[in-house]
Amino acid sequence: MNDLIKRAAEDLVQSEHAIALTGAGMSTESGIPDFRGPDGIWTQDPEAEKKAYEAYEMFKINPRKFWEERIDPDSAMRRMFEMFGELNKVLPNPGHFALAELEKTGVLKSVLTQNVDGLHTKAGNTNVVEYHGVINKFRCIKCANRFTPDEIDLDNLSAKSNLPPLCECSGIIKDDGVFFGEPIPEDVRNKSEEEALKCDLMLICGTSAVVYPFADLPTLAKFGISRFRTSYSGEPRQKVTIIEVNAESTPLTGTISDYLIQGKTGELLPRIVEEVRKIL
Ligand code: NAD
Repeated sequence: MNDLIKRAAEDLVQSEHAIALTGAGMSTESGIPDFRGPDGIWTQDPEAEKKAYEAYEMFKINPRKFWEERIDPDSAMRRMFEMFGELNKVLPNPGHFALAELEKTGVLKSVLTQNVDGLHTKAGNTNVVEYHGVINKFRCIKCANRFTPDEIDLDNLSAKSNLPPLCECSGIIKDDGVFFGEPIPEDVRNKSEEEALKCDLMLICGTSAVVYPFADLPTLAKFGISRFRTSYSGEPRQKVTIIEVNAESTPLTGTISDYLIQGKTGELLPRIVEEVRKIL
């Protein structure tokens, strides 16, 4: 284990454009359950996973009806969003702070995260791409402009003629969090692909790497092509080192990643940063 931590620190220091890819496992030590780990929300309640797919279908078919339920104080939909809203009170853990520290040293260039909890930004990372959006923000599905809850004025939306809320560009506004079945917003997807194609080191932390298209970014980084991005520049890829820090092995382990450091991100990432500091 110590050898792998030192190896990761050396690889990081030698890299020119290191990026981190993170998932729900990063935040379990902050008290937010993941989906597919042994205590994950879906692992414990597979029915909940099916229900989560209904929100986007409802939004697509009838956005006004979606918003009526979204703001109805007695609806299950409102309760679900309020539960997500509670994530705002959660604090980053030592794993998040380690990645922020790694950015401050200049070694880490960006964080691409699947998490909607906003904890990387709270910990101090400044270049964060929130691939699945973030809680407590809203987004126009046409021009991708983001809004704060104050700007949407949720309390006054209940006048039904105001539903669904519209952007200045006339696009319909929805929660920024990407619903199941919803395409990834183009700005976020383009930035992530750019970073994946630019990096020479990818540090993958706390993800089961089964949610696509995010889980394809390591393949894109390694080979310059992936099943979700078929255009290929023809440029040969530079050597990309792919390191996983995860509690368990994933479909990337032994295939796409160079090595797995198995354990908790809140314990392992600070140890990696400590080794990086010794080298710098
Ligand atoms: P996942 O639940 O599919 O996988 C999490 C992985 O992290 C598992 O392999 C698990 O063993 C590992 N893990 C758990 N705790 C860990 C720890 N302390 N240290 C290291 N590894 C740990 O998560 P995913 O791959 O991110 O996919 C789930 C989807 O659900 C994502 O799209 C994400 O948007 C969303 N989600 C987000 C949050 C959040 O914002 N915190 C929480 C749950 C789910």
